[in-house]
Amino acid sequence: MTTLITNIGSLLTNDPELGTLTDAAVVVDDGRVAWVGSAAAAPDADARVDAGGRAVIPGFVDSHSHLVFGGDRTAEFNARMSGQAYTAGGIRTTVAATRAASDEALDANLVRFVKEMQRQGTTTVEVKSGYGLTVEDEARALRIAGAHTAETTYLGAHVVAPEYADDPAGYVDLVTGPMLDACAPHARWVDVFCERGAFDGDQARAILTAGAARGLVPRVHANQLTEGPGVQLAVELGAASADHCTHLSDADVKALADARDTTVATLLPGAEFSTRAVYPDARRLIDAGATVALSTDCNPGSSFTSSMPFCIAVAVRDMGMTPDEAVVAATLGGARALRRTDIGHLAPGARADLVLLDAPSHVHLAYRPGVPLVSAVWQGGVRVV
Ligand SMILES: [Zn+2]
Repeated sequence: MTTLITNIGSLLTNDPELGTLTDAAVVVDDGRVAWVGSAAAAPDADARVDAGGRAVIPGFVDSHSHLVFGGDRTAEFNARMSGQAYTAGGIRTTVAATRAASDEALDANLVRFVKEMQRQGTTTVEVKSGYGLTVEDEARALRIAGAHTAETTYLGAHVVAPEYADDPAGYVDLVTGPMLDACAPHARWVDVFCERGAFDGDQARAILTAGAARGLVPRVHANQLTEGPGVQLAVELGAASADHCTHLSDADVKALADARDTTVATLLPGAEFSTRAVYPDARRLIDAGATVALSTDCNPGSSFTSSMPFCIAVAVRDMGMTPDEAVVAATLGGARALRRTDIGHLAPGARADLVLLDAPSHVHLAYRPGVPLVSAVWQGGVRVV
């Protein structure tokens, strides 16, 4: 079964040779992109979709989310928007609600958000644990996430579990010992919230190193609230990404630029938006040569958006990115942050993850903020929206 999507007004391929094509067509065969080129030269296919002159882009790759949780934090958001500051401590509210939730409730909640993302053009999502903070609850979160995505991240080191409030070293022993044993079989990645109020540089190093010894690849919540050691640690350990990158020294920017082929700077503007914080400076990172990704950080506390188009619009408006840079960061950038070569672009051989926009160009994602422009979505060649 082959499908021809033709009469594409603007096709963003993210391929260095193909670039952005006008009057284009794509042929999908068996879940992969089989052919890309001019609509006039397109081969026949079993089915035909007329894009009506509108834009097609690769599906968004949301490389940072926290979707296994119970409850919500409306009251905390309301208080914050009434003047209170964001701290890492609010995570414990969600920990209590998550522990109390059944497997079925957590799964249903996760599916709800994955589908919500899909309707907004996201075809790959990474999902972290981190609201269980016991051996059983962290392993449970990863099992549930693993039923819906291959990109699962062990984040037992989100905050110190409440039971270990007076013994953070004991909690690090748990995270690097029995909890890692239980979680490693269900995770691809290991992550740490390296921040004042969460884990310091030495603790983060111990956790990431232990995870790496079990075959998990590091990624780091780095430099979100303060200019901490997270970015340098991420680069030193060859992490796939340093996420947030809001407060960076010149040395941090240089480290990320030097590590452009290894460690992606993943920017999460939903967090700054929802905590009324200063945005990361994407322009500074891009001008230095760093590889940048955009992601939602979707979680009930600090960034309760599932919308990559929203993140693109904010990144262009407030972080110095051009519309092209922002859309590339939300697709190819996310793929690089997940070390995936099969997604984030639309060259022949890529997974057929495509989004048809109700717009003539991908620039409209930033130009028309808050407008639902996603008209159709194909995931692995299957139309899902
Ligand atoms: Zn996060």
